[in-house]
Amino acid sequence: MAEKVNGVSLFEMSLQNFNAAADLLDLDSNIRKQMKLPERELTVNFPVEMRDGDFKMFTGYRVQHNTARGPGKGGIRFHPNVTLDEVRSLACWMTWKCAVVNIPFGGAKGGVICNPKEMNKAELENMTRRYATEIAHIIGPQKDIPAPDVYTDAQTMAWIMDTYSMANGYPVPGVVTGKPLSIGGSEGRNEATARGCVYIIAEAAKYKNINLKGTRVVVQGFGNVGSIAARLIHDEYDSKVIAISDSKGAIVNTKGIDPHQVIEHKRRTGSVVEFPNADSISPAELLTLDCDVLIPAALENAIPKEMAPKIKAKIIAEGANGPTVPEADRILYENGTFVLPDILANAGGVTVSYFEWVQNNYGYFWTETDVNNRLREIMLRAFYEVLSNLQKYKVSLRHAAYVQAIGRVHEAIKARGIYP
Ligand code: NAD
Repeated sequence: MAEKVNGVSLFEMSLQNFNAAADLLDLDSNIRKQMKLPERELTVNFPVEMRDGDFKMFTGYRVQHNTARGPGKGGIRFHPNVTLDEVRSLACWMTWKCAVVNIPFGGAKGGVICNPKEMNKAELENMTRRYATEIAHIIGPQKDIPAPDVYTDAQTMAWIMDTYSMANGYPVPGVVTGKPLSIGGSEGRNEATARGCVYIIAEAAKYKNINLKGTRVVVQGFGNVGSIAARLIHDEYDSKVIAISDSKGAIVNTKGIDPHQVIEHKRRTGSVVEFPNADSISPAELLTLDCDVLIPAALENAIPKEMAPKIKAKIIAEGANGPTVPEADRILYENGTFVLPDILANAGGVTVSYFEWVQNNYGYFWTETDVNNRLREIMLRAFYEVLSNLQKYKVSLRHAAYVQAIGRVHEAIKARGIYP
C-alpha cells in the first residue's frame, strides 16, 4: 500500500497537495518550511513471545506531524505493509484534517508492521501492550491521543488504555479514543467516520442536484468505515448499494445489495466474496462501474492515474485516507467528478474522538443523539467553509480543504512563534 507510485512516495504525494494549496495563500516562507516536516518520529523495535514460545521482533512507529493547534491525534494501524513513510503521511493528513473541522488537535499517527489475521488474540494483546509501553513516553491525554485505524478496534484501544493506566497507577481514559463504552468510550464513535462521510455526501449531493434516493453507490473496503457507510446510506437515504469489495474480492448486483446481509455474511465467512445475491467482479472493475457515488474506504493509492479516466461516479467520497493519487485527482477534476477529499470526508471519526476526549476530561457523557447532532453541525460547517474556498479560488474541493487547513495551522504557528 505504501509503495512508491511512479517513483514518488506517499509522503511526497501528500506534499504535492500541500504545495498546490500553500501557493494560493500568502504564507510566511519560514512557517511554510516548518509545516512540511513532522515534529517527531519514533521507531520502536520490540520482542513479543508468540504461541510457539519463540520471540518475534516487531517494528512500530509513532509520528507527530504538527502540534501547533493542540495535542497530536491520530489512529494506530496494524498491517504488514506499514512503513514510516506511510505513517508520516497519515500523521500529516491528521494535522490538516483536525484543522479543516477546526477541532483543537494536531496530527499524529502510529503503526506496527504485523499481520493481525495470522495472530491469535493473546499475541495481538501482548504486541499491543508492548507497543503501547514503547511509545508511552510520547503519548498522553495532553500530548498525543491514539485511536483505531486499519485492523485495530475498540479492543485494541482498551489494551492501550489499560497498559498506560497501569504504568501511571490510575485510570487515564483520555489517553486513547475509540474505546469501549464501558471504559469511557463515546456513544456514536464506532459509526462516526462513516456517519460524517455520509453527512458530507448528502450536502454534496444537494449542491450537485443529485437525489440520494435510489442513487447507485459503490463501496470499496468493507471494514469499519465502508460497511457502516453502506448501511447508513442504504437505511437513512434510501440509496442503492450496487457493489462492495474487501481485501479478498468484489461483488456486484445492479438491482441493489442489502448491506445488513453482507455484514452478516462477512461476519460468518470473513469476507464479502461468495455473497449469495450478487455476482463476483474484479476489484478494478468495481471502481469503473456505472454509479453515482463511489466510496473508497480501504487503503491509500486505490485510484491510480490509469483508472481515473474510466471512473463514471459523479461523486467520490474518500472514506479512506489518501485513496486517490494526485495525477488521478487532476484527471477526475478535469472530468468534472466531485471528489470529497479525505481530510474533509472522513473527518467524522476524529471529530467524535474529540467529543470522547472532552467527555473523558469532564467525566460527563452525552447521548448518541447529542453526539450525532454536534457531529453534523461540525461536518456541515466545514463543508460550507471549504465550498466557499472552492468558489473563491476556483480549485478542486481537495485544494479548497487544504487552503482552509493550512491557513489555520499557519495562524497557530505564527501566534506561538519559535521557542526558545
Ligand atoms: P478496517 O480495518 O475496519 O477495514 C479495512 C477494510 O478494507 C477491510 O474490509 C479490508 O478487507 C478492506 N481492504 C483492505 N485492502 C483492500 C483492497 N486492496 N481492496 C478492497 N478492500 C480492501 O479499517 P477502517 O477503519 O474501516 O479504515 C479504512 C480506511 O479509512 C483507512 O484508509 C483508514 O485510514 C480510514 N479512516 C478510518 C477511520 C476510522 O475511524 N476507523 C477514520 C478516518 C479514516
